[in-house]
Amino acid sequence: MGEPKGVAEGVPNAVRPDPSRDDGRRAVAWLTIAAPPSWSVTPSARSWCTCGYERCAIGRAAVLQLVTAHSEHRTTCPLLTPASEGRAA
Ligand SMILES: [Zn+2]
Repeated sequence: MGEPKGVAEGVPNAVRPDPSRDDGRRAVAWLTIAAPPSWSVTPSARSWCTCGYERCAIGRAAVLQLVTAHSEHRTTCPLLTPASEGRAA
């Protein structure tokens, strides 16, 4: 390969996201939490993912569990964990 590094042929020098960062590990899971400062208002949260994962939580304890579940999902989501990683038991 004699191509100089950093020069991609046919790619206009336009404003576009860095292709080197788009290696398939883009964010596909979202987490939104509505936690009013007032303790009298019950907080709620919702997390969902493009793989079909979706959870809703109402209440502080449930929201905390949802946050934990969301974090765990990011490690188990088939969209975030490519099969080519080849995990060994
Ligand atoms: Zn997912």
